[in-house]
Amino acid sequence: MKSKSTKEGAEKEIKNFFKTMNNKNVKDIKKIKRLAMKHNIKLGNFRKKFCKKCYNPLKGKTRINKGFKTIECSECGYKNRWKMD
Ligand SMILES: [Zn+2]
Repeated sequence: MKSKSTKEGAEKEIKNFFKTMNNKNVKDIKKIKRLAMKHNIKLGNFRKKFCKKCYNPLKGKTRINKGFKTIECSECGYKNRWKMD
């Protein structure tokens, strides 16, 4: 594996990571989040791909209410909420 010490390299890795969430687990997601923090990279929309609380790939009931989108995590039940644009 190549070195990922540059910010550019880290950004590339993060983008690739979130292209598909199919085979990702909590450990992978925590690792990529740490990488982003280390390089001061904002995850932006990528943050919506995993649960804020348990870091599992986010899937579950989706509700839209008063300009907010709520996805209830099917793993831990935490309600992830975002303001819609
Ligand atoms: Zn969760």
